[in-house]
Amino acid sequence: RAFFSDLLYAISHHHVAPGQAEAIWSRILQHKLSMSATLGRNVRITVATLDYLSNVIEVLTSPTLISEAYAAEIATQSMRDGMTGLYNHTSCYELLEQELRNHRRYGKGVSLILVDIDNFKLVNDRHGHQEGDRILVELAKTITAEVRESDMCCRFGGEEFAVILPSTPRLSEAAEIAERIRRRTTTISCGEETVTISLGVATCHHKSSSARDLVEVADQALYRAKRNGKNRVALARWR
Ligand code: GH3
Ligand code: MG
Ligand code: MG
Repeated sequence: RAFFSDLLYAISHHHVAPGQAEAIWSRILQHKLSMSATLGRNVRITVATLDYLSNVIEVLTSPTLISEAYAAEIATQSMRDGMTGLYNHTSCYELLEQELRNHRRYGKGVSLILVDIDNFKLVNDRHGHQEGDRILVELAKTITAEVRESDMCCRFGGEEFAVILPSTPRLSEAAEIAERIRRRTTTISCGEETVTISLGVATCHHKSSSARDLVEVADQALYRAKRNGKNRVALARWR
């Protein structure tokens, strides 16, 4: 009985109690036959189900059929940040977990760079939020341009970004990329000044380290970069 309930849910995203689902399903099959006879062509089961639920027993109010390609597009969009097009916070953690699993299996290493814009509150205060938003988009482009195709760029938070570097076991290698991003960012101008960022870099050492562990050590490094004067890269130290 749960099967028919699940089946109806899969087609319509409408919950029918398991006790009623089988009976409704058999009426939908009859409906499909009579629709097909009326229209003189085979009516698909999805169409018959939605028609039955919305026009016959009226439990659905405004059903919409979408193509598989559109559904896939929506799924992709839900992983991205609307403003910059980078991966969002949730998918950043998912991708990082995925890369750590790969690392545990194949031992190729994975590094993480966290980026935070320096004095961004001042940018907003002096030049307005729209200018702030423009800088966020510019920085997203800059980061993307400076990393490899296989690296994953994420908008980690408001004015914080993250780059996941798969197959990067050496901290020095990740640090070089971070330094490149830092240098290139100083070419983004904001009024009379240039934009600067601080970066924290970490590489997973222990095969057991979780995404949260890696983010935490990279964040501690980032904090050190801020404390030591900003516009610089700091490297993580595992305890
Ligand atoms: P610090 O150098 O220590 O990082 O200083 P900060 O001013 O950057 O400090 P903090 O990181 O605390 O401030 C972040 C600011 O970023 C606050 C918030 O108004 C701004 N911000 C966050 N998200 C957005 C956004 O989407 N657009 C704009 N324009 N500003 C944002
Ligand atoms: Mg911040
Ligand atoms: Mg900041």
